[in-house]
Amino acid sequence: MGEFQRNICVLPGDGIGPEIMEEGLKVLEKVRKKYDIVFKLNFGYIGGAALDKYDSPLPDETKEICLNSDAVLLASIGGPKWDHYPPEKNPEVGGLLGLRKLLNLFVNLRPVVVYDKLKNTSPLSKRVLKGKIDLITVRELSSGIYFGQPKQITDKKALDTMVYEKDIVERIARVGFDIAKARKGKLTSVDKANVLYSSMLWRRVVEEVSKDYPVVELNHLYVDNAAMQLILNPSQFDVILTTNLFGDILSDESAAIAGSLGMIPSASFGGDINLYEPAGGSAPDIAGKGVANPIAQILSVAMMLEYSFDMREAADDIRKAVESVINEGLGTRDIIDEKPLSTSKIGDLIADRI
Ligand code: NAD
Repeated sequence: MGEFQRNICVLPGDGIGPEIMEEGLKVLEKVRKKYDIVFKLNFGYIGGAALDKYDSPLPDETKEICLNSDAVLLASIGGPKWDHYPPEKNPEVGGLLGLRKLLNLFVNLRPVVVYDKLKNTSPLSKRVLKGKIDLITVRELSSGIYFGQPKQITDKKALDTMVYEKDIVERIARVGFDIAKARKGKLTSVDKANVLYSSMLWRRVVEEVSKDYPVVELNHLYVDNAAMQLILNPSQFDVILTTNLFGDILSDESAAIAGSLGMIPSASFGGDINLYEPAGGSAPDIAGKGVANPIAQILSVAMMLEYSFDMREAADDIRKAVESVINEGLGTRDIIDEKPLSTSKIGDLIADRI
């Protein structure tokens, strides 16, 4: 038995969650065998599944498991049965936002790769999709206009406040530069510094932090131009570093380029415990049919291995296995028109190649 033990909190959740989580764990098991590592999996309930069992979307039992783990691996939560519940009992508000708060998550990472074989499932034309598209959005998650005070609404006037403090910008900028350093060394900071004071500070702090990363090439884009560049020439990007609001929008835009939500993993960093989950939701329209794409979940496992357990090689094994399956023209029905395979078959094929 290996000496390297890691505790993982596993939260399958609702809808397609349990189906895609099974495939993520199948792949993790292959990594365990190959690298002789001990992963201790601690299963918990979240979202609708937790409401049904504990009458709470994030029960104390689940919080306890999360806080006693080295990383949290989530699938997806929510569904029509619970969507109308009030905020404290709503799967997304009480469950997902509650989890983000519990883990003090302040950065969300969403990588997007457009595989050659899938260029015809992207909404962008092949003319635009030339070159390798492999980018990651680093979004600030804890501050900005979603949380700034004051926040007010009356019948005649509504107010939100966009605040950024130097420390918060510096913290996220360092994450962005570290990631860029480990990738192609190119960082694009996105703001609206021609109009917004909070963006002027953002740009100034990013410039300051860049002095500690001479190997990373930094450029700045205004958010309106960034939104345009993403669909005009996505291969120019490596790392996009941006605020909470702009990141929310741009990371969805970049995910759309890949053709299916089922392909996009994500990671959120906090204090000691990071959260890994697919970018998509619980997809109630296809739940229980064995057709969901498990790749977002499998790539979330790869992100967990790389960022929480420093297992870059194992993470790359998973990414190469995914790429090889896709390049053979195999996939679930969201990405393949002819002879699509089932969720578990795709999981098997990827696991077999590790
Ligand atoms: P969704 O992401 O669940 O689905 C949007 C579309 O993408 C659907 O057509 C779905 O079939 C497809 N899709 C998503 N993941 C897929 C996959 N792995 N394979 C193939 N197709 C996939 O978003 P929605 O329909 O707006 O929301 C459904 C439920 O999910 C709601 O209850 C919502 O609150 C919840 N939700 C949860 C999360 C989360 O868990 N982080 C995120 C978004 C929405």
